[in-house]
Amino acid sequence: MSSDFHRAGGPETSYDVIVVGGGHAGCEAVASAARLGAASVLITHRLDRIGAMSCNPAIGGLGKGHLVREIDALDGLMGRVADQAGIQFRMLNRRKGPAVRGPRAQADRRLYAGAMQTALREQGGVAMLEGEVADLVVDHGCCRGVVLADGRVVSARAVVLTTGTFLRGMIHLGEVTTPAGRIGEAPSLALAERLQRLGLRLGRLKTGTPARLDGRTIDYTGLDAQPGDEEPAAFSFMTTNLPAPQVLCHITRTNSETHRLIEANLHRSAMYSGQISGVGPRYCPSIEDKIVRFGERDGHQIFLEPEGLDDPTVYPNGISTSLPAEVQDAFIRTIPGLESARIVQPGYAIEYDYVDPRELGATLELKRLPGLFLAGQINGTTGYEEAGAQGLVAGLNAARLAGGSAALTFARARSYIGVLVDDLVTRGVTEPYRMFTSRAEYRLTLRADNADTRLTPLGIDIGCVGPERRGVFTRKAEELAAAMDLAKSLVITPSEATKAGLALNQDGIRRSAWDILSYPEIDLARLGQVWPALLALPMPIAQQLEIEATYYVYAERQHMEIQALQREENALLPADMDYTDISGLSNEIRDRLVAARPATLGQASRIYGMTPAALGLLLVHARKGRVKASAKSSRTV
Ligand code: FAD
Repeated sequence: MSSDFHRAGGPETSYDVIVVGGGHAGCEAVASAARLGAASVLITHRLDRIGAMSCNPAIGGLGKGHLVREIDALDGLMGRVADQAGIQFRMLNRRKGPAVRGPRAQADRRLYAGAMQTALREQGGVAMLEGEVADLVVDHGCCRGVVLADGRVVSARAVVLTTGTFLRGMIHLGEVTTPAGRIGEAPSLALAERLQRLGLRLGRLKTGTPARLDGRTIDYTGLDAQPGDEEPAAFSFMTTNLPAPQVLCHITRTNSETHRLIEANLHRSAMYSGQISGVGPRYCPSIEDKIVRFGERDGHQIFLEPEGLDDPTVYPNGISTSLPAEVQDAFIRTIPGLESARIVQPGYAIEYDYVDPRELGATLELKRLPGLFLAGQINGTTGYEEAGAQGLVAGLNAARLAGGSAALTFARARSYIGVLVDDLVTRGVTEPYRMFTSRAEYRLTLRADNADTRLTPLGIDIGCVGPERRGVFTRKAEELAAAMDLAKSLVITPSEATKAGLALNQDGIRRSAWDILSYPEIDLARLGQVWPALLALPMPIAQQLEIEATYYVYAERQHMEIQALQREENALLPADMDYTDISGLSNEIRDRLVAARPATLGQASRIYGMTPAALGLLLVHARKGRVKASAKSSRTV
């Protein structure tokens, strides 16, 4: 147990914001509430497990890396912490356009949790309390605090629940089931029952994790090594140094013998014996799923990822399973390099309750119980990054509610955070939700490289960005603006371009270096031969200039589309809209509208099965009812 946290005091303690759960959502929630000046407390089962990575020791990836950069742009913790703990950095999709590149890092599990705990300790205004939250304090229809299992009561103006996989968590390992929130940790039963008594729609989901291996028993001879990037890119816009040594990962494959063994034992897998009712993530299948669904394949890749610098444990990414331990042991030994591998801890599946996220507004506050916010896996998502992003939204809004400021919502057109929250609260989930770049309509402008340009000014405005980042961002923005001015001032005619060896259309049009940079075949280094001043730009600014010039035309077009859309999108629908009163809506659409209770026409448009005709009916009805609308004041960023 960490001893130097500022521990919260006695039973009558009162705060602005209580955050329950010290996982990825909880850490961002409590830190962001505190950045806004709210007196905040993090209550969690064990202080020494704060920042624990329950599954794979990695942060980022496609879509997920975008979320980390956005959390960072608002001065959140995840990016900086991952930079401290990263032992292998790779930019995924490096050969594709910048819009779909995803920063990813393999993290040292212990360094990550340690760096997260340090970051929270250094964040002023965060107190810590160890214990199990068993009940909620509800006063006049608003959530005003929590009751711990030992009877202590802690009150606050707003509460954020980030309980991950713990609500009625049940671990499955072959035929054996054990109530647990994570391996070795008790589930949250009382709190799950309390949420059920609130009348919330709850569902069951599941996820799984592979066995952990002792790396000293793996034979790496003959396996392909996978190094990180030669020039690793940090997550955080603030990071200037990646302190941890970089390591290699390795790649191996399953084979026909592995598949035969798994097939022969499918009836013993918790997932296939009918023991688990929850739905699992389709895009992150267990090895049993892969063999059943893609039986024709002769092998599936496995990435052998070290869990830490001083830790021999290896995470075999690609073989999550709920088969009995002895079957895991047998099938793992059929895999090249793993013939003598020793299992440190068998893989398992976990099934847990989640709350239908359509119960939430876009601030992640429950519609049925004001003052109570939910963030992370409790809302049906999976992944550290999705959890962290929701934690940030809930923490900021809980602090704003406590301080009496207008609610803050994130637009889809401005951030992946906006896409994530809007998808959840509008569409709900049918399986654990994870972020992909394909979920964003405006991905050419929502890039990982420009998350700071998109969000840091908003963060400065609302007060969640500290002076250090404000200084760094302002300097960078000024340097980039000057570089763009320079590039626009350097002009050339087609005939001058030909003399300089640049192939441009001979159409008599003078073009600037900025215009020419948007041609995919011409880069800044090439233009530097014509205009040496461009070569004097600092490297990060030069790289950003190239990307901005490449996307400028698309960005302008998208900007106009977004403006047109937003005029319609922001039309408010009254919170008490009576959908039974609207004739012409099909029963199916009416049921979905009642379940989602969209706050805007834009949200309604993204409900599954919504038609233009139904939207037209809603708009007419909303206009009639607008005087009755009791929409709370809110600000969309
Ligand atoms: P968590 O990180 O789970 O944190 C929850 C916190 O709440 C914990 O600190 C817990 O102690 C605390 N808590 C819970 N109840 C209470 C209470 N009543 N009182 C006080 N404290 C409480 N993600 C992927 O992206 N891919 C995967 O393949 C994957 N596999 C997974 C496999 C397993 C077995 C598990 C457990 C998780 C897996 N995940 C996976 C999910 C990933 O770990 C989560 O998405 C992420 O950790 C969610 O963050 P969170 O903050 O919502 O919850």
